[in-house]
Amino acid sequence: MSRKVHGSHTRIGKYEIGKTLGEGSFAKVKFAKNVDTGDSVAIKVLDKVQVLRHKMVEQIKREISTMKLIKHPNVIKLYEVMASKTKIYIVLEFVDGGELFDKIVNNGRLKEDEARRYFQQLINAVDYCHSRGVYHRDLKPENLLLDSYGVLKVSDFGLSALSQQVREDGLLHTACGTPNYVAPEVLKDKGYDGTTADIWSCGVILFVLMAGYLPFDESNLIALYEKIFRADFTCPSWFSSSAKKLIKRILDPNPLTRITIPEILENEWFKKGYRPPDFESEEDVNLDDVNAVFNESEEYLVTEKKEKPVSMNAFELISRSRGFSLENLFEKQMGLVKRETQFTSQFPANEIMSKIEETAKPLGFNVHKQNYKIKLRGDKTGRKGRLSVATEVFEVAPSLHLVELRKTGGDTLEFYKFYKSFSSGLKDVVWKSEAITEDASG
Ligand code: ADP
Ligand code: MG
Repeated sequence: MSRKVHGSHTRIGKYEIGKTLGEGSFAKVKFAKNVDTGDSVAIKVLDKVQVLRHKMVEQIKREISTMKLIKHPNVIKLYEVMASKTKIYIVLEFVDGGELFDKIVNNGRLKEDEARRYFQQLINAVDYCHSRGVYHRDLKPENLLLDSYGVLKVSDFGLSALSQQVREDGLLHTACGTPNYVAPEVLKDKGYDGTTADIWSCGVILFVLMAGYLPFDESNLIALYEKIFRADFTCPSWFSSSAKKLIKRILDPNPLTRITIPEILENEWFKKGYRPPDFESEEDVNLDDVNAVFNESEEYLVTEKKEKPVSMNAFELISRSRGFSLENLFEKQMGLVKRETQFTSQFPANEIMSKIEETAKPLGFNVHKQNYKIKLRGDKTGRKGRLSVATEVFEVAPSLHLVELRKTGGDTLEFYKFYKSFSSGLKDVVWKSEAITEDASG
């Protein structure tokens, strides 16, 4: 039996592509799953010609290489890059908490303490990337995402050069067309400094978080530019005076006198409740993928593949055999509960894997995945030691998988109890062509 994954999805390399998460002005972002590990990722899909002909291609390559090395809790991780004949794929950490600004759109402005917590995370991420020579240049609400714990994750660090086009006249243009977050010197294009420009954008973001509206907002673009050039804004009355002072120092139209990050880190308003994050630095990171993509090496090209369709004959065949029904899981008599059991599923292997993980975790199991094997280890010691279970997913036929569960340690009765809760959690993925016998009480 092979362990390939089958389904009706598109595959790119080891990733199975899912729905579109969003679309920016120059890229599409797709949800995907790594079929080897079951991990969720986001893949940014770019037009290869556009990227490789870009005036800043060397800088883009350098920044993407650096981003692969960066492991900061508030920065979306860049896992790898791939290229097909026509596209470049940037594989990113997937976060599912939505955009920070959805919160403001849905619930209005934030309390000062909450705004400060996000601002602290933002400044920390920005400071760290700057220290590695990577600038954002396009800090805006769409690039501030939240993970499922509500932790801020800044996306598109090092990628923003991609969205900028240097026109014939040498002026830098942001592709999105809304300059509300852009620093005056960037708009004037006086050969600006990425550091101070990013700080300005952080100030606009902080203002929006606490006010619920933009500091500079004009329907007329010329009027908007003028307000930004003069830093012509007013803080609402509910801002504390120390917050007002800090924002005034950030939204200084002169980049040379604008507050710096070391100064922000020393600011009283900023420092309140500040806990810089703890994180490990990078391990050995391989940059072969980045080099291959940017050197246009033919060797590593990936292709988009549509997977084989489902074969119904296989189902019919198996359904007649009665061999792999859920009945196997529960022997008619309690005493006969085996230490090994199996079920079949029509779900793709990676979905089965994720479901097993999702189900086992709340039951107090540590989950270790490798290829199509999962080891579950109980966190409590039972009568006969910790309960541990090994599972493996096999492909029987296209889109028909056999899942095997074996107790590898611990008490059989505990295994039985575990299996009862476990199988009810897995109901959705277990193939229900036959009646399911859940009554094992005997
Ligand atoms: P932009 O940043 O210009 O809006 P992008 O192409 O970067 O455009 O992203 C489009 C949208 O896709 C984002 O606004 C966001 O909602 C979503 N998105 C981007 N990256 C991720 C990610 N790593 N995880 C989840 N969603 C993402
Ligand atoms: Mg983005």
